[in-house]
Amino acid sequence: MQVKQELKQVKSSVVKPEGFNPFKMAQTQFDRIADTLNLDEPTRELLRNPLREYSFAIPIRMDDGIIKVFRGFRVQHNDARGPCKGGIRFHPQETIDTVRALAMWMTWKCAVADIPLGGGKGGIICDPHNLSEREQEKLCRGWVRQIARDIGPTRDVPAPDVMTSGQHMLWIMDEYETITGGQYPGLITGKPVELGGSLGRTEATGYALVYILRELLKELKIDINKSTASIQGFGNVARYTAELYTEYGGTVVSVSCWDQGESTTYSYYKEKGINVKELEKITDRFGTIDKKEAEKLGYTVYPGDEWLRHDVDILIPAALENSITTENVNQIKPSVKVVICGANGPVTPEAEDVLVKKGVTVIPDFLANAGGVVCSYFEQVQSNQNYYWTKEEVLGKLDNKMTDAFYKVWELAKRKKIRVSDAAYMIAISKVADACKMRGWV
Ligand code: NAD
Repeated sequence: MQVKQELKQVKSSVVKPEGFNPFKMAQTQFDRIADTLNLDEPTRELLRNPLREYSFAIPIRMDDGIIKVFRGFRVQHNDARGPCKGGIRFHPQETIDTVRALAMWMTWKCAVADIPLGGGKGGIICDPHNLSEREQEKLCRGWVRQIARDIGPTRDVPAPDVMTSGQHMLWIMDEYETITGGQYPGLITGKPVELGGSLGRTEATGYALVYILRELLKELKIDINKSTASIQGFGNVARYTAELYTEYGGTVVSVSCWDQGESTTYSYYKEKGINVKELEKITDRFGTIDKKEAEKLGYTVYPGDEWLRHDVDILIPAALENSITTENVNQIKPSVKVVICGANGPVTPEAEDVLVKKGVTVIPDFLANAGGVVCSYFEQVQSNQNYYWTKEEVLGKLDNKMTDAFYKVWELAKRKKIRVSDAAYMIAISKVADACKMRGWV
């Protein structure tokens, strides 16, 4: 497997604006819901900070013989409901605060989806674009050597994230098994299917978003067969979202992508509906669609964020964070009734306020894209029992989990007359707080 080829495109969005602290933002979100839930002081103190943090040096002999010391992290935000779960990122601008925020969000995501796992996140400060495959392998093995005692199938289960792939997961698993002297495929998820990965993982995030959307449309009395959607992005999440939504009878009129060559975005529009399969044939491995070929297939190609300005019922930002902001939220057409977040953090809190005031239902990221982690949980269960399910079984269980999670949140939002994201946070935070109390921690 060519690791370099597998590297995800480094999106400009990954570089945070100066002064932005994601951990402070995660704590502010938590404090607001903690007030609503009237959480006691010790519980707040416990949940607004990680339970454990590890920061360590990873010395590597580079290909040129020189030793370089990298910095690695693992943050375990909370494991009251089960082993921690969360990705490992390779990024030159990685900070402990980013890792802390992401670990906290994983705790809420696992809780809202009701899987028996907690939240974790890890990373190494590095730019894999400047590292050979051998150097990356050494980094993965070096990372495990420092943390092997504190992770494991019953403690903390890593997964791929920004710029890490299935190959990195296998190196980590192999080193862990060498250290511990056993076979532990349940240590890690995101493995290739041939070595303990789960069928259905590729489709999971996009499909699970559509399971929620299907139920939401029923609740809003919108006929899916007559509904239209516009999607930002044409990567993993966007494609499988478009595929299943179309299969259910919906029409996706537009998708969009980042054009690496031109450093700009383009939207691809077809009134009678895009065809995922034909577009996939003219899309590169980074999710960039070939403009000329698309025009030949009858698509109208618009420069910029036109995907946002179509007269549709549903908007699905499934590319990157901060894509619907106070700058562009008023360009959204009055026809839009639902914004469902495939990406992480695509709608800023201020833009969400505007949308909610206009009567738009906004389904937050940590509910809408939880299908990925639910399927990773299924992978872990299969790996631990060393018995693997069919794709239909995986997707059937995924549908049940997501449908249940949606209705719990939806019912609470209706009962309390609150927005969906608040209801989702309330459910997640109370579940984790209850688990801490039941264990006698607070
Ligand atoms: P991907 O790399 O497969 O695809 C990203 C797509 O977004 C590409 O088509 C790219 O061209 C497009 N894009 C990038 N910048 C853009 C811009 N400015 N305007 C329009 N399009 C742009 O990524 P993915 O795996 O589909 O993930 C998308 C988002 O969903 C990310 O926020 C990711 O963190 C989140 N997410 C993914 C999963 C998963 O299982 N893949 C799970 C949970 C959350």
